[in-house]
Amino acid sequence: MNEPKRWEQMLVQMYPSLFVRSFHGAPFAPGYPICGPGWRDIVVKLVERISQAAANYPIRFIQISEKWGRLQIYWTSKASLPQEVEQAVEEAVALAEAASACTCARCGAEARLFSDGGWLLTACAEHARGAPVPTPLGHANAHLVRGYVETDIQIVQCRHYDRTLDAFVDVDPRLTD
Ligand SMILES: [Zn+2]
Repeated sequence: MNEPKRWEQMLVQMYPSLFVRSFHGAPFAPGYPICGPGWRDIVVKLVERISQAAANYPIRFIQISEKWGRLQIYWTSKASLPQEVEQAVEEAVALAEAASACTCARCGAEARLFSDGGWLLTACAEHARGAPVPTPLGHANAHLVRGYVETDIQIVQCRHYDRTLDAFVDVDPRLTD
């Protein structure tokens, strides 16, 4: 009897160009998502956003996995990308990583970071283990990200991830001390 397909498998099959390559003639998806079920919606949205942003470019995921209590996402492209495409892809990745940092990996509820004997996990009150980790920068969900002000100048911005909007809001870094 066939087992029902996992959501990760369905996602890979739905977006083969973003996932599948050939390894000795066999299909192989290095970016096959490896994370808790609570992050399914985050990963699905990430893939949808990147599929839209990079529709005509050879982008492929090389890793989507949980590390240090949050999602870590790596991708590659076989061709150089227009800057606006690359920025849109990076934005989708940053949103997914930020969302994972405040969403329980087990159940998808609002969550925070805990340390359980050195093991970091993002969990809601029900699924928490160990002790809560103090928020970096003294500001909930603050993220330092690379931003672009002009074509060739990279700056560091401080942005706040708004979980309800699933979007970044600029914050003044001076207020986060
Ligand atoms: Zn939970």
